[in-house]
Amino acid sequence: MSLLIDIVKKVKGKPTDKVSVDKYNARVSKCYSCPSLLMTGNCGICGCFIKDKAKYEGESCPDKKW
Ligand code: SF4
Repeated sequence: MSLLIDIVKKVKGKPTDKVSVDKYNARVSKCYSCPSLLMTGNCGICGCFIKDKAKYEGESCPDKKW
């Protein structure tokens, strides 16, 4: 899935830099304790699939939790 997202980001001119494993785990951990996380694994605010969103350095939580 990351390859497809990388391609879409590149087409849009957005960075595809990834975070470290520790930073990724910290982000996802915050999402798992967030009331906005949906059962589908998507953020209820931005709609993104958090396991993909959290990989990218240029992404951020819409509720400023990470
Ligand atoms: S991205 Fe932010 S608001 Fe969305 S589920 Fe994760 S912590 Fe919650």
